[in-house]
Amino acid sequence: MSSSRSSWSKRSLTAQAMGRVDPITKAVVPPIHVATTYIRDEDNAYSSGYVYGRPDNATIREAEEVLAMLEEAEAGALLFSSGMAAATAVFQALDPGDHIVASKVMYWALRSWLSTEAVRWGLSVDFVETDDLDALRAAVIPGRTKLVWAETPSNPLWTITDIAAVAEIAHAAGARLAVDSTTASPVHTRPLNLGADIVMHAATKVLNGHSDVVAGALAGAKADEFWAKVASIRKMQGAILGPFEAYLLMRGMRTLHVRAAAQAKSALDLAQRFSSHPKVARVLYPGLPQHPGHDIAARQMESGFGYMLSIQVTGGEAAAIRTAAKVGLWKRATSLGGVESLIEHRASIEGPGTPCPPDLLRLSTGIEDVEDLYSDLDEALRAS
Ligand code: PLP
Repeated sequence: MSSSRSSWSKRSLTAQAMGRVDPITKAVVPPIHVATTYIRDEDNAYSSGYVYGRPDNATIREAEEVLAMLEEAEAGALLFSSGMAAATAVFQALDPGDHIVASKVMYWALRSWLSTEAVRWGLSVDFVETDDLDALRAAVIPGRTKLVWAETPSNPLWTITDIAAVAEIAHAAGARLAVDSTTASPVHTRPLNLGADIVMHAATKVLNGHSDVVAGALAGAKADEFWAKVASIRKMQGAILGPFEAYLLMRGMRTLHVRAAAQAKSALDLAQRFSSHPKVARVLYPGLPQHPGHDIAARQMESGFGYMLSIQVTGGEAAAIRTAAKVGLWKRATSLGGVESLIEHRASIEGPGTPCPPDLLRLSTGIEDVEDLYSDLDEALRAS
């Protein structure tokens, strides 16, 4: 046992939100800083380092410190008011005319924003399967492609992108690599260590873990000009997270390691059992040896393969919708990563043009008893 903070593991540091104790009261939970403005010194300086609430806040900084530690991010972390606000800030830091290559299978709202809003602002976007390295090599335009955006495991098919290989291709073309690591979480994957320049999280999901905060996060490998531009966009557009939400996020993150490991264990158990279920045509989960990305996932993910899986049901779309209607313990709702398990017919949310098959049900595994989760869904599948 060590008393030096520098030797504590990530799990210990996260459980204690960096071990910070309030210096005045000795409280083990730091206070929430709600002030929007700060006293200026008599010599006109701001010696506290805080000026105004839109660019900065002490509670936000505390939560950012936890995330930067988890992601081993030299540039630090930036919290945003949502995952979408975090992701779009990265694209907004590009210049008109810049070319982007992004994963074809990715969070649908971001794909939609890229095909509409980003294009309106003069960015050009190509979508490729980023798990296909030859397709990616063919899509990048050396000197013009400025950003490769990869989501892994990718929502809702859970395809796996080889982060190290994609970083090499992006960098050789003069582009940065940003990775949406929402469904991996820093417990399972650290993209910056594998060569990514920026990692993004919808902190709304497993980082917070309790379905009561909408938040986004970026962590950066290098405090370069591009990172400064992203920080400036957050500041100027007022896209920072609120202090109450940052406090809740920090409270959620304290149990991240325990939740992520338990959720991944149950997800693997369910994936294995539903693989031989008579009403399930296919299970999509990178922890299964038959998953096309399994070998890469086994290399780049640790302590499990994440909490997300999908099943394709034998009776097609109608049977999938009927199954979702019949569950009790599983909650029929969008979103993912919380302690409560969620089920969703994804194609009907994503609409036309989705790569999501119509017979697919997306499952976000929570922390309930896995036997209860299995029986609930088993009964719903058999009754449909
Ligand atoms: N990335 C992924 C993988 C997501 O699943 C989501 C939301 O579901 C987002 C980004 C966007 O996050 P938010 O809803 O916090 O804006």
